Amino acid sequence: MDGRAQVSQMSQETREALAQRIRSRLSHADNPATDHDVSIVGGGVAALTLALEIRGARPTTRILVIEPNAHPLPEIIHTVGESTVEVSAHYLRDHLGLADHLSTSHIRKMGLRMFFSHEQNTDISQRMELGSSSFVPQVTYQIDRGRLENELNRRCQSEGVDIAAGRVRSVEFGSENRPHTISFQNGDAVSRTTARWVVDASGRNRMLPRQLHLKRANEHDCNSVWFRVATEIDVGQWSDDPTWQGRLVEGDRAMSTNHLMGEGYWVWLIRLASGATSVGIVADPAFHAFGTVVGVQPSVEGFAGRPTASPWSAGSLTKSQVPPRR
Ligand SMILES: Cc1cc2nc3c(=O)[nH]c(=O)nc-3n(C[C@H](O)[C@H](O)[C@H](O)COP(=O)(O)OP(=O)(O)OC[C@H]3O[C@@H](n4cnc5c(N)ncnc54)[C@H](O)[C@@H]3O)c2cc1C
Repeated sequence: MDGRAQVSQMSQETREALAQRIRSRLSHADNPATDHDVSIVGGGVAALTLALEIRGARPTTRILVIEPNAHPLPEIIHTVGESTVEVSAHYLRDHLGLADHLSTSHIRKMGLRMFFSHEQNTDISQRMELGSSSFVPQVTYQIDRGRLENELNRRCQSEGVDIAAGRVRSVEFGSENRPHTISFQNGDAVSRTTARWVVDASGRNRMLPRQLHLKRANEHDCNSVWFRVATEIDVGQWSDDPTWQGRLVEGDRAMSTNHLMGEGYWVWLIRLASGATSVGIVADPAFHAFGTVVGVQPSVEGFAGRPTASPWSAGSLTKSQVPPRR
């Protein structure tokens, strides 16, 4: 029997007692004995949107976000710049109310576009292309993550979310209704703070799963690298073929999230409003992952970017540094 059915079968008295218990638990959330009601580990997009979400639903809940990187972030950060799908665009624009920011600081995306391999890939117009000829009604975006996170951070602060600088080192869990204690480090200084709820939004770092030994090996052996080039890579200019050019009735191929795909590799290109292009390369180890970064480049027709100088502009997700050639 589900919860709703169980409640409907309760007597009026039992239902009232249950409501009283829930109310008393919720009022604990406002208990001044803790520094905050909710502490969020990490200050990336998940943390900041969650903070705004809680703020919208429970305006008096005291929220702390703990993040090591100082704000405002440089535009080029550890995440290179990304493409939203319809549901995340809807969430950011219509639910969190970021419509103005999205339309003025980011690029409207012209959907996904895939180019599958054709012979030596020397002519983009000969590759099989899967993508829209015009904008689809559901508006989506190519996101500059530094810009988005700065905006979310600014909104959190103006809505009274506390933000502390530091890296969370450990969480000591309080039993029963006692508060949890979070230790975080900023330089040499270690601070402690308490909360009734702790949310781990530390991304790939997985702060709590590591502390609780919840990490499990992932047998999927796949490798990726990503970086930004400080220039626009315009896929739409890679061929003058009139049939290929005429296939689009509006927009511009460079506004799509462009994917160059073939057996063992996948390259994506995302043009960003800041004028850079974010590039990702995923390769199966069988395709000689790191060699692929070089090996695929000749097929990225027109690739003429200069890697940006920031050390944050590149990253890698390799499971093993250099996978064995097979
Ligand atoms: C190359 C690449 C391309 C991608 N492309 C897309 C895309 O096109 N579209 C899309 O929707 N998604 C994409 N993603 C996925 C997307 O980036 C992630 O899903 C998203 O960043 C997760 O957000 P997050 O806030 O959970 O984590 P993160 O953005 O990683 O944020 C985690 C935050 O926690 C902080 N932190 C870490 N450890 C601690 C600690 N101990 N204490 C305090 N703070 C800590 C970090 O500093 C960071 O700010 C891509 C990812 C990669 C790697």
